[in-house]
Amino acid sequence: MKKIIVVGNGMVGYKFCEKFVAQDTSKDFEITVFGEEPRPAYDRVHLSEYFENQNAEALEMAPRSWYKANGIELITSERVSDINRASKTIKTAKDREFSYDYLIMATGSSPFVPPIKGVEKEGVFVYRTIEDLEGMLAYAAKLNKEKPNARAAVLGGGLLGLEAGKAVLDMGLEPHIVEFAPKLMPRQLDSRSSQVLKLKLESIGLNIHLSKATNQILGDGKITGMEFGEDDRLDVDMLIVSAGIRPRDELAKACGLEVGVRGGIVVDNTMKTSDKNIYAIGEIALYNHMIYGLVAPGYDMAEVAVKQILGETNVVMPADIDMSTKLKLIGVDVASFGEPFMPADKGHSIIFENKTQYLYKRINVSHDGKKLLGGILVGDASDYSMLHQIYLNGMKIPEDPAQLILPAADGNAAFGDVMDLPDEAQVCSCESVTKGQICEAIESGEANDLASVVSCTKAGTGCGGCKPMVKDLTDATLKSLGIEVKDSICEHFDLNRQELYDIIQVKGYRTFNEVIDNHGKGCGCELCKPLIASLMATIHADTANKEYAIQDSNDRFLANIQRNGTYSVVPRVPGGEITPDKLIALGEIAKKYDLYTKITGGVRVDLFGATLNQLPLIWKDLISHGFESGHAYGKSLRTVKTCVGSTWCRYGMDESVSFGIELENRYRGIRAPHKIKGGVSGCIRECAEARGKDFGLIAVEGGWNLYVGGNGGATPRHAELLAEQIDNETVIKYLDRYLMFYMRTAKPLQRTAAWQERLEGGMEYLKEVIIDDKLGIATDLEKEMQTLVNRFECEWTQAINNPEMMKRFSHFVNSKEEDDNLVFVPIREQKMPEPWN
Ligand SMILES: Cc1cc2nc3c(=O)[nH]c(=O)nc-3n(C[C@H](O)[C@H](O)[C@H](O)COP(=O)(O)OP(=O)(O)OC[C@H]3O[C@@H](n4cnc5c(N)ncnc54)[C@H](O)[C@@H]3O)c2cc1C
Ligand code: SF4
Ligand code: SF4
Repeated sequence: MKKIIVVGNGMVGYKFCEKFVAQDTSKDFEITVFGEEPRPAYDRVHLSEYFENQNAEALEMAPRSWYKANGIELITSERVSDINRASKTIKTAKDREFSYDYLIMATGSSPFVPPIKGVEKEGVFVYRTIEDLEGMLAYAAKLNKEKPNARAAVLGGGLLGLEAGKAVLDMGLEPHIVEFAPKLMPRQLDSRSSQVLKLKLESIGLNIHLSKATNQILGDGKITGMEFGEDDRLDVDMLIVSAGIRPRDELAKACGLEVGVRGGIVVDNTMKTSDKNIYAIGEIALYNHMIYGLVAPGYDMAEVAVKQILGETNVVMPADIDMSTKLKLIGVDVASFGEPFMPADKGHSIIFENKTQYLYKRINVSHDGKKLLGGILVGDASDYSMLHQIYLNGMKIPEDPAQLILPAADGNAAFGDVMDLPDEAQVCSCESVTKGQICEAIESGEANDLASVVSCTKAGTGCGGCKPMVKDLTDATLKSLGIEVKDSICEHFDLNRQELYDIIQVKGYRTFNEVIDNHGKGCGCELCKPLIASLMATIHADTANKEYAIQDSNDRFLANIQRNGTYSVVPRVPGGEITPDKLIALGEIAKKYDLYTKITGGVRVDLFGATLNQLPLIWKDLISHGFESGHAYGKSLRTVKTCVGSTWCRYGMDESVSFGIELENRYRGIRAPHKIKGGVSGCIRECAEARGKDFGLIAVEGGWNLYVGGNGGATPRHAELLAEQIDNETVIKYLDRYLMFYMRTAKPLQRTAAWQERLEGGMEYLKEVIIDDKLGIATDLEKEMQTLVNRFECEWTQAINNPEMMKRFSHFVNSKEEDDNLVFVPIREQKMPEPWN
């Protein structure tokens, strides 16, 4: 029996054990694995989830019982302190000695802490282990108690630094990212994409400082600030250093193994070190003169080491290693693949940029236009998996490669269907799972849904970047077999929106955690969090202030983030009717805060250019003049546009203004799957364009004609007639039913037109439900709507009256500091953000 010792029980050390025992070698080999941390290996990639649930077990790669069941001796809280290569033995810090035939070095890395003066001060942390996170959480809790506006900085604007910045935000501290380079994620992004990402991050509340070299950490014993240069400093109460990693090669150096100039154990493509009985894998291994700080290459290395020890000497590491990555922050899409920065002599780049939507897409294509060489996606990385596959598999690209990143006119992606991938396409690179293996698992009956595909193939259990594609493949394969596919909202819930709606309503849940603890798994994501926030609002009339951490960014700040990171403020002007006094107030407030003003197509006045700290001040002024939030940021009723109607118009048949105001006030603030607009016209001349709205009324002889399901925007659609010649009371009754039915049953982000179009039975069915009460739910729908109407509260008023809620905006309130990064230029006697070049 041969003995294998694994030094280091991190993600890769564990993966080596898992891959080894999968080969059924228990009679020939005995494995002992040492970890200096107190617990078995855990998923460091998803470490940030610990901030939310503080459940270390949920992160475990496998429980202790797994090691036992597989005959592996796991020794934790014991550091290997010495290697004697001549006697093939190791010693531990507890002075115990063990012998080996093969030694696997999987000691990983530690965070690199630059030698900055004062970096040892209290309040300075690194971000690598559960213990580090526990330390941060305790310190942040203390700061939150002692100081209302405590700040924490992250040193380093790389992938991990941004993740840490988001964690700081979620800990309730004011987050600052300090980066030495002039751009964010310097290894993955070019300058333009970094600029777009910066704006996006600022929109969710992260403060970004680029080109800042930290000279020293200030403070007497504990950190109070960072000094960059003379008169250039940032006051902070806590610091997380995320400035790169250094391989833990101290043991290797001491026993004379060959290491690189900047550290790391040198290995060849078989993972062997300079000693043929010692292998190095994961973040300790220096392969191709590189330390790969990602889990996928580490897992491949583990596989190679296993196969080499078992005599399959043809299994080696490839020469090129894919460094494609995707950031995992809620609501912030960033990904890069292949060669993100390609030299001009290798090919050319195609760039699509739309800063108003924080969008930047770049693909690099070979000179002959036939091959995709790499790319960068910021703002929308939904095509990442497919583009990554095209790159990895050298697949054919369209004649006009721009189609790969430009929105297609017919809504279909230019790269076709996920089923077009070749069977050998590696979908999950962490676990080396191909498309063929995923389809085969389903076709053979071994798996019948996403969860079982993941558990039997392990696809998506590493960094998780491939999860959306695994889901698409699973759905497509099931469909091809004629099996119904469930439209569950994301990997955390095996339920669709309607099922979640029913569960929340029946069980009376009031918080996101209650729902996920009882009916989901994990911590949630950018899909399920805002969705549940919206359901809570629809069912309980909870405003966006209730659980602001699960809201989309506009909802968090109750305003619309605009191009240069400032906000636009839109007060409600029901029906578009406004008194001269209110008009004057709007003008005066706009002047006071130097805001750009614009009357929108939706009969409202938009005030642009407010900074985060100004928002509460502006709201306060608006509220004192009788305004309230116009919910321009929410998936809720925006406006009810009215024409002049019989109040003034000589053609007017009914009072479109009065009724428009009544309807707008009735449905204001009510959250829905998407935004809702209404319109009321006083006669068939249709000056309010009511048929282009989600609900529209046109006055006719004998009452109102009620139209539903109209949309403007990118896919315009005329509303369809639901009922004719009805009175005001009946309009409200039908509208209550219609809107509530839509809110209950539509998919997330589905507008009324698309929902109506996909209703089985179409308009006739809708009429049966709304008018004839075919389902017997009309009274319920009306009651639910009335409850929401009765519970309306203005979110702005709630926010300014609640000191706890005001913390969201408080990092600038009462501060004399101004955001000196904002640059405006004049336009027609007002101002606008400086154009981008
Ligand atoms: C917050 C965070 C987010 C990340 N996100 C991503 C991501 O999205 N995608 C991605 O691909 N990668 C990500 N990574 C990187 C990824 O976690 C690492 O690449 C991976 O964990 C490396 O595994 P490893 O086993 O080589 O090292 P580690 O996981 O560090 O394990 C090494 C273990 O060895 C132990 N050890 C060291 N020396 C000794 C000794 N002498 N005796 C006993 N034990 C010892 C250490 O205590 C440690 O537990 C992230 C990392 C962090 C910290
Ligand atoms: S790298 Fe992954 S889980 Fe890792 S994803 Fe990627 S592809 Fe699978
Ligand atoms: S829709 Fe009719 S009532 Fe309204 S403004 Fe136009 S013409 Fe006048």
